[in-house]
Amino acid sequence: MKTTLITNGHIIDPANGIDRVGDLYFADGRITKIDLEGGARQVEPDETIIDATGLVVAPGLIDLHVHFREPGQSAKETIGTGAKAAAAGGFTSVVCMPNTSPSVDNPSVVTWILEKARAEACVNVFPTGAITKGIAGEELAPIGSMRKAGIVALTDDGHCVQNPEVMRRALEYARMFGLTVMDHCQDYALVGKGVMHEGYWSTVLGLPGWPAIGEELIVSRNAQLVELTGTPIHCQHMSSGGSVRILREARARGVAITGEICPHHIALTDETIRAFDTNFKMNPPLRTPRDIDLLIEGVADKTITVLASDHAPHCNYEKEVEFDAAPFGILGLETEVGLFLDILVHKKKAISVGRFIEMFTVEPARLLGLDRGTLGIGAPADITLLDPNLEWTVDKEQSFSRSRNTPFHGWELRGRAVRTIVGGKTVWSI
Ligand SMILES: [Zn+2]
Repeated sequence: MKTTLITNGHIIDPANGIDRVGDLYFADGRITKIDLEGGARQVEPDETIIDATGLVVAPGLIDLHVHFREPGQSAKETIGTGAKAAAAGGFTSVVCMPNTSPSVDNPSVVTWILEKARAEACVNVFPTGAITKGIAGEELAPIGSMRKAGIVALTDDGHCVQNPEVMRRALEYARMFGLTVMDHCQDYALVGKGVMHEGYWSTVLGLPGWPAIGEELIVSRNAQLVELTGTPIHCQHMSSGGSVRILREARARGVAITGEICPHHIALTDETIRAFDTNFKMNPPLRTPRDIDLLIEGVADKTITVLASDHAPHCNYEKEVEFDAAPFGILGLETEVGLFLDILVHKKKAISVGRFIEMFTVEPARLLGLDRGTLGIGAPADITLLDPNLEWTVDKEQSFSRSRNTPFHGWELRGRAVRTIVGGKTVWSI
């Protein structure tokens, strides 16, 4: 049995309450030992040693929200290229959204994705299934058979189930199969054709507004449906300060509702749309400095428990059109660790590096019941080495993604993953 030793790193494993310098061993793809004593040790003859002096050794990070575009749109991203981008961002596991083409609304597409991932992906790929057939919001998808095929959650992401009765029935079925429902919160009647935050800048620029109430109303509805059915709902990519308040109040009453934020919603405001650069167009849209403050407050007081990218690749030709006509979404996997560490940990001091790791490991793993996010003995050797203080510059041409749509090209960030290990194998290092 060939053993690998990661020596002298600062091991932070929130799942097991570990936060100190030590040695970590793995063999045959599993964690075998953690030594925090720091005494003399016996070197085995064919031991591989990774020196982690000055680095943080964390459980492999999990991104709960990515779009890998397969099946159907491999010009934007494939499962293989998306997985490489994930590895280069420090992620060992990703949860893929079902708005592919065809959408993931039956077990055969789930099986296709898992087989493709097995053949091409260097990280773990966990598929989600659509709540409704064709993500059309009308008829429930076959939830039980998709569960059997391997989905880890339900979501109509990209769209939002408008009919509360359909959502209620989805929650009741999800409960029978032990699945969490995730929701892209958007009220279509209120949002209409909105392409940016409704406010001062949408008025100045003459672009149709996407009002914050369009998100908040659905977050409210979801809280009430969770209370009624007992099935958890996870609110995806929350963008509005009002949504945070609703979530906080519901959680204080013991309602099993959770939320995530994406880096762009705390890094950028609606004012950036002034340049009409479509790399700043996403759904939900960038909002105001006040919203950013309230989102960060929500992270600090644990109202928001998950960080995610909403990695949404698009081809250049699709984004190089007028603002109204461009698709929503930006790349995220390779910049999110840097952006979140830089903003949440270094600049705003809202959370510690330990909590940052917890929000990318234990929290998403627990939410979906994944056997990941821990350095416990016997767990898969999914490990991320981080340098929380490394200063680096984002260069989109270095990206492993098949697309280039990022507003962060040229940004200087502090903090980055430096090595990604999946099942005991290094799949990327700096
Ligand atoms: Zn979405």
